[in-house]
Amino acid sequence: MPDIYCGRKITRRQPPRFDLSGDALCLDFINTLDDRFTNEPKELLTSYTDLVHFAEDTGLLEPHDADRLVARGERAPERAQSALAAAIHLREAMNEVFWAVLNKVPVPRTALPTLNRYVRDAAQHSQLVETRRRFAWKFDDALDHLEASLWPIARSAADLLASDQLHFVRACAAKTCLWLFLDTSKNHRRRWCDMTKCGNRAKFRRYYKRQKKAEALS
Ligand SMILES: [Zn+2]
Repeated sequence: MPDIYCGRKITRRQPPRFDLSGDALCLDFINTLDDRFTNEPKELLTSYTDLVHFAEDTGLLEPHDADRLVARGERAPERAQSALAAAIHLREAMNEVFWAVLNKVPVPRTALPTLNRYVRDAAQHSQLVETRRRFAWKFDDALDHLEASLWPIARSAADLLASDQLHFVRACAAKTCLWLFLDTSKNHRRRWCDMTKCGNRAKFRRYYKRQKKAEALS
């Protein structure tokens, strides 16, 4: 599994601020532009603090480190702003690549080189370390770099794109949602980003239609 969540204990402050139903870090990150394909997309990363909160929710940062990074961002607003701009630049490149894969069309010309820039940056800030029974990527200390959370995100995208799990990347079947997720279900027939949200809404709509039909016939 390329999923960076794998084996990682996510310590979230309750309640998490982001809805994480992508089952892969990179896909959850793409989903931070909510309602992406509607007339009113909703940006969930409106400040550097939002980016830090995403990193905390996804277990990339411990809560106390997140607080320290937010404080650093406040002390260096220009650098924080450029870290946020870089995050969105990376996210949109990732989005283009994954949607090209989903739509089985060529990847837009600039998307892969952009993603690669961040993947290279991630590689420069990471090293292999020995863990108890295996090896893992360890990234440089996040507190020294405002854009540090982009490294594991870019790496997650690269790992997923280069893996045999790529075929299980799906978009939510709700046309107004279209959030991306990695279908890790046993039979690979998951249709919704979140059954309790989009799934239930769709079920409710079907129920409502049937009711209306029944009423019309009676
Ligand atoms: Zn959905």
